[in-house]
Amino acid sequence: MRIGGLQKLSLIDYPGKVAAIVFTQGCNFRCPYCHNPELVLPEYFGAVIPEEEVLSFLKRRRGQLTGVVITGGEPTQQRDLILFLQKIKGLGYAIKLDTNGSHPRVLKKVIQQHLADHIAMDIKAPLNEYQKVTGVKIAVRCIQESIGILRLSGIPYEFRTTLVKPLIPANALPDIMALIGDTPRYVVQMFKPGEKLLDKTLLSKSHYSEEEITAIKRQYERRLS
Ligand code: SF4
Repeated sequence: MRIGGLQKLSLIDYPGKVAAIVFTQGCNFRCPYCHNPELVLPEYFGAVIPEEEVLSFLKRRRGQLTGVVITGGEPTQQRDLILFLQKIKGLGYAIKLDTNGSHPRVLKKVIQQHLADHIAMDIKAPLNEYQKVTGVKIAVRCIQESIGILRLSGIPYEFRTTLVKPLIPANALPDIMALIGDTPRYVVQMFKPGEKLLDKTLLSKSHYSEEEITAIKRQYERRLS
């Protein structure tokens, strides 16, 4: 596993759990609003944290931590993800996996082998806007496939979209809602301007205010689970 970061404690990233967060290094998308260039662009990669170090930390924290969030970058593009999840499960942890949904076959394996207890998938845009919003050419049928896999997974899952006014404005949400269908949990996230963006030109553009985002959330979010 290429692990680019370890946050040793989070009370907000895994609902109901006291969790550690493992950040994998590398991503196949180039979302302009991404604020983790050190996990996405190889020229900014830092030193990899040895997997054994992360596992031995988790071993020591059993009983204090109850969950592990695997996020990125994009975890499903790590070749040994399944093995890594098996090791974490072996330590007795609940696992939440964050994904951009571009590797449905990996997602399917994770679910079939009961290696995640909660999955959060980003829906970047309506399908016809994916290339613009992710900055890369991708097979959008993979996104559709991943949505279908999660809907049939039988485990808690959520879809989420980061709204970025110049790229994915609120008027994209009806198409996104149609894409994900009738799902119990959908979260709208606010774009956070910052110095570490992949595309810094976004900083000079107009963005939604907190009040606007609150109103959009009220209209579109679902939090039934
Ligand atoms: S926002 Fe997520 S999917 Fe997009 S480039 Fe960053 S890590 Fe990858």
